[in-house]
Amino acid sequence: MALAPILVWFRQDLRRADHRALTAAVATGRPILPVYILDDAAAGTWKPGAASRWWLHHSLVSLRKDLSDVGAHLVLRRGDTAQQLLSLADETKATTVVCTRAYEPWATQLETSLNKILAGADLELKRYSGALLKEPEAIRTQAGDPFKVYTPYWRALNATGAPAQPLPPPSAIKAVRSKVASDNLADWKLLPTRPDWAGGMRDTWHPGEAGARANLDLFLQDALKGYSDMRNRPDVVGTSRLSPHLHFGEISPHQCWHAAAAKAHADNGRSDKGLEVFHKELVWREFSYNQLIHWPTLPEEPFRAGFAAYPWLKDAKALDAWQRGATGYPIVDAGMRELWHTGWMHNRVRMIAASFLIKHLLIPWQQGEAWFWDTLVDADLASNAASWQWVAGSGADAAPYFRIFNPITQGENFDPDGAYVRRWVPEIASLPNDYLNAPWTAPALILAEAGVKIGKTYPHPIVDHVMARARALAGYESVKAAAADRSA
Ligand code: FAD
Repeated sequence: MALAPILVWFRQDLRRADHRALTAAVATGRPILPVYILDDAAAGTWKPGAASRWWLHHSLVSLRKDLSDVGAHLVLRRGDTAQQLLSLADETKATTVVCTRAYEPWATQLETSLNKILAGADLELKRYSGALLKEPEAIRTQAGDPFKVYTPYWRALNATGAPAQPLPPPSAIKAVRSKVASDNLADWKLLPTRPDWAGGMRDTWHPGEAGARANLDLFLQDALKGYSDMRNRPDVVGTSRLSPHLHFGEISPHQCWHAAAAKAHADNGRSDKGLEVFHKELVWREFSYNQLIHWPTLPEEPFRAGFAAYPWLKDAKALDAWQRGATGYPIVDAGMRELWHTGWMHNRVRMIAASFLIKHLLIPWQQGEAWFWDTLVDADLASNAASWQWVAGSGADAAPYFRIFNPITQGENFDPDGAYVRRWVPEIASLPNDYLNAPWTAPALILAEAGVKIGKTYPHPIVDHVMARARALAGYESVKAAAADRSA
């Protein structure tokens, strides 16, 4: 009797290696049909943004090729996930669907409803772990509560032992015999309508499993050793640039964790500062998911409810200047332009630019979160929401509100030679270092020599730093009052 096929439902796990669901399906010896379903309605507000759609297109091209190299054919479908899986099961006589767990609130709701719908059609749904180092439900305080603070979360995660070793990719996949219709990827129109916009992303990234591996190898070879010192420097390639690959699951955190450990131990023996800090960053990702799972309104509402009382401003002009990289603060503008051009921004500059929007311009963090969602290739519901709330001071384990980044000294400290600002804000590149982060303070002669006309070739600062700082702190009094009212 012919063995019933298995549908391998790909989601944010667009890889072959260390793919538990795929490996388990292959091990059964049953024929396999890999499928990807674009279900924008299920994701609702949090359907992939424009930069993520660009990435998704290319990642699917890459996965399709990688699967076909080992004998399987990726089928693309669009629309309601349950309907598509039921129809594919009907067409192929499949009796099982396997997938990797996802953790966005909409994705977990989808899994719950699918469980019921598929069971009604005698179709079994098997979910595997793989997107996170440890299942977040398993990491709890001794009282059984979810963690709200990172450091004890990190300790508790470590106490559960090393993450599982990654699995090798299957060398061959037995494909279903029948011909199954697939959508044409181009019809999904995932690529931007302004083709010039994607040019910078194309030059910067190689979506897909091979691109992920290449970035990991490069990082291990060049940057892991100096990671603890250089990870805060936007002017050098001091970080892994794995975030979009991790978000789309082209590489697993287990692969990153163990490859870094092996490299550091081979180079330095067991103790290695760069390795520890890199592992800790991977766990910040886990901690973000921990927050999203336990507080599913994290992307929309402040974790600390008092922040709903913050006296935000409605300022479309200022928001537009921030988005375009035209605030007059070079380090902020450099970051926003890097984001627009490449779909990515260095973590230090994300913190500076986010702090500027929230605390200098008093624009609600949700508006910055939405812009990042649309323009980041690594836009990730958990990490984006948790990080914006961290900067805003409204998050679980957030930076204290009074920590207001000074965009001038941050630029001077973390881009000491000005290479980052000069790259992204070329119109002020000829200014000497002393004035690069505050061009409006330069004497007229120096501005003239550098060809800079403040207000013409480069904007006046959109807001005065000292005034903005005082205004932001005054606004925080409303939060404190609201919090006191609540506890009274
Ligand atoms: P590395 O320094 O090489 O770190 C390795 C991996 O650890 C990263 O790829 C990432 O998966 C994880 N990581 C590192 N830092 C963090 C962090 N602070 N929080 C969570 N995970 C982390 N990261 C996203 O992946 N998606 C987002 O949408 C996102 N939005 C952000 C918004 C703001 C306002 C801020 C301040 C940070 C945001 N981050 C986000 C976190 C961080 O900036 C990026 O993960 C990091 O810059 C990615 O670069 P990398 O891969 O070179 O990181």
